[in-house]
Amino acid sequence: MKDGHQHLQSLRDGRDVRLNGARVADPTEHRAFRNACRTAAGLYDFQCQPNRQALMTFETETGQRVNRCWQLPTSYQELLQRRRALEAWAETHLGFFGRSPDHVASTLSGFMMGIEVFEEYDRQRADALREYHAYARDHDLYLTYVIINPQADRGRAAHDQQDAFLTAGVVDTDATGITVRGAKMLATAAVMANEVFVSSIQPLAPGDERYAISFALPLNAAGLRILSRKSYEEAAVSRFDNPLSSRFDENDALLFFDDVRVPWERVFVNQDLAMCQRQFHATPAHVYQNYQAQVRLMVKLRFLAGLAHRIADTNGTLGFPQVREVLGQIAANVGLVEGLVWGMEARGGMAGRYYVPDRNLLYTAQVVTQQMHPQMMTLIRELAGGGMIMLPSSVADFADAELASLIRRSQSSPFYGAADRVKFFKLAWDAVGSEFGSRHTQYEMFYAGATFVTKAHAFRTYDWKRSTAMVDGVMDGIDPV
Ligand SMILES: Cc1cc2nc3c(=O)[nH]c(=O)nc-3n(C[C@H](O)[C@H](O)[C@H](O)COP(=O)(O)OP(=O)(O)OC[C@H]3O[C@@H](n4cnc5c(N)ncnc54)[C@H](O)[C@@H]3O)c2cc1C
Repeated sequence: MKDGHQHLQSLRDGRDVRLNGARVADPTEHRAFRNACRTAAGLYDFQCQPNRQALMTFETETGQRVNRCWQLPTSYQELLQRRRALEAWAETHLGFFGRSPDHVASTLSGFMMGIEVFEEYDRQRADALREYHAYARDHDLYLTYVIINPQADRGRAAHDQQDAFLTAGVVDTDATGITVRGAKMLATAAVMANEVFVSSIQPLAPGDERYAISFALPLNAAGLRILSRKSYEEAAVSRFDNPLSSRFDENDALLFFDDVRVPWERVFVNQDLAMCQRQFHATPAHVYQNYQAQVRLMVKLRFLAGLAHRIADTNGTLGFPQVREVLGQIAANVGLVEGLVWGMEARGGMAGRYYVPDRNLLYTAQVVTQQMHPQMMTLIRELAGGGMIMLPSSVADFADAELASLIRRSQSSPFYGAADRVKFFKLAWDAVGSEFGSRHTQYEMFYAGATFVTKAHAFRTYDWKRSTAMVDGVMDGIDPV
């Protein structure tokens, strides 16, 4: 298994990361990315600790121990073992790494659980997928994905945009592979992952065949550019001032493919509209990737609940019934998500040899949590008042004796000393109100698709027959007039 040092080494591969008008020589040393890279490396150190190996790893058919995110559960018990590993990993970053390595590993594992769907489509593509899955698993690769097309004009199909290669598509095919040109969004964690899975989960229209592809590539592939958004880590003044954004800014980037070659061994779907959808929805892939996301979010919500309680402790408001009511709502939100995770596990079922969480409860959780996260942010803001703002400009203020004395006199709290009160409210603001915190709200609202998408999944998978049969039963019991 890979440890943290090896992971950092693997990122020094000449990838083409662009930030603030310049090329980044080494993301692991750059002040915009280095701490996030170290947090990612910490995940690999965590799995290598001897006392964590049973929790975090399982034995493959070749006798090698690998991370449980690659495990294909064949029973409810194995699903729970796998979830405990995902949960333990998420606790190391408090759920703030949305695209931690277990996310796309879950997608690929879901593909493998439905490999017959690829075999029916094309045996060679199925073989490519099987071999790639084993390669990624056995090399402990950190994968991210780009499966969404740039927005441009959402009222038009991909082939009907002003530039036919705005969305990444196939420009050329030959005996060795395909050549891809154009852009994809939104490669979260691309600066600290090893490889990227590229596809399109958004339904494509007839005429869009060249964009209906699915493949994986190293992030240092020739012609692949990683165009980073603003780095919140770079803007973080210190760990004291920005305890979360200084370590957990996983980054997001636009990927541009400048005639990138993809060998056939790494192409899983080639210009097939139906298969692009089937890979996610006719296999357990979509369920497994989003189940991982809900486990991560459950951990994050527990942290946010802790934050809310400490705000009340800090301001001496815990005894007020109205404050307890807000905390009660927050507790119920966390309990709801925990219940949904456990429910989708318990109500799961066999798909061939594999045990798969319940689809409808998963989509229920997506719809509910997209709305719940912004609500949690509002509730926490409501509890905090101006405390998250009434703060020294930075930790440097403590170095000035006069300022430090004023801070100590003005930052009083029944729970914390003055310095800890400042430290705590800086943490709360980073989670809720900073640019990093605000990006997280956008993330939780959109990472699994806009609400019209998640609601369509909930609509599609709900047992309407059982519900309408109840209505029909009442109707049948009333005599016609
Ligand atoms: C922080 C962050 C990180 C992300 N990370 C990743 C990642 O790692 N990998 C990845 O592949 N993607 C990632 N995404 C992209 C994410 O999957 C998309 O944002 C999501 O699928 C929604 O697509 P969109 O952003 O293009 O919004 P759109 O589809 O353009 O929707 C935006 C809004 O427009 C309206 N709208 C658009 N189309 C319709 C329609 N057909 N019917 C009705 N209303 C419509 C709705 O109001 C909708 O809410 C990330 C997004 C964010 C915000």
